[in-house]
Amino acid sequence: MKRHIGSCSCGEIEFCFENDPINSIFCYCKACQALTGSDKWFGVWVPKDNFNFTKGTPSSYTRKGNSSQNVNYLFCGKCSTAVCAEITAGNFYSVSATALQNNEFQPRMSIYASSAPSWATFPSGLPTFDTLPPGMGG
Ligand SMILES: [Zn+2]
Ligand SMILES: [Zn+2]
Repeated sequence: MKRHIGSCSCGEIEFCFENDPINSIFCYCKACQALTGSDKWFGVWVPKDNFNFTKGTPSSYTRKGNSSQNVNYLFCGKCSTAVCAEITAGNFYSVSATALQNNEFQPRMSIYASSAPSWATFPSGLPTFDTLPPGMGG
């Protein structure tokens, strides 16, 4: 079984997940822009059952997602690295690809492109959706 590990930048929080993610996305929504200080968040989607924190306890912040179900952001209270967001509507974590020790995944799609700033960059050759792909909730 494949195991992926990651951490915040100060090392207080560590996590791991098993198997490859079910999706990997660039998200250009406003919340992700505020979170990252850039045009997008690179998230890999991991079913909750496959994910565990192995060191430390993250701080959390909860907001209502577009489906009006909770999105729980989990971040290091010491260095403020956003480690992942729990998407309760989909029962998965959107794990920060940049927090992984080995950031080997490629984005497969761009979502919430309609919220992107005018200077945002989109990877070429990938499906780009104004919000979410059809059938993926929202
Ligand atoms: Zn930290
Ligand atoms: Zn987003």
